[in-house]
Amino acid sequence: MGTVHVRIGDHRTKCHMDADCPSLNGKQDTHLGQEPMSEDEPKKQGLTACQHCKR
Ligand SMILES: [Zn+2]
Repeated sequence: MGTVHVRIGDHRTKCHMDADCPSLNGKQDTHLGQEPMSEDEPKKQGLTACQHCKR
């Protein structure tokens, strides 16, 4: 089971494979950090995979 990374705060619409992804860490005004979750969790929350760091 892999781990993905999701933004905390607003604009939580994508899950990221890469913890250093620019779109995961950008928009500092609304960015409250990031949290790891298991790969199947974003699907349950309706999140889609980030196109920037998709591997
Ligand atoms: Zn990404």
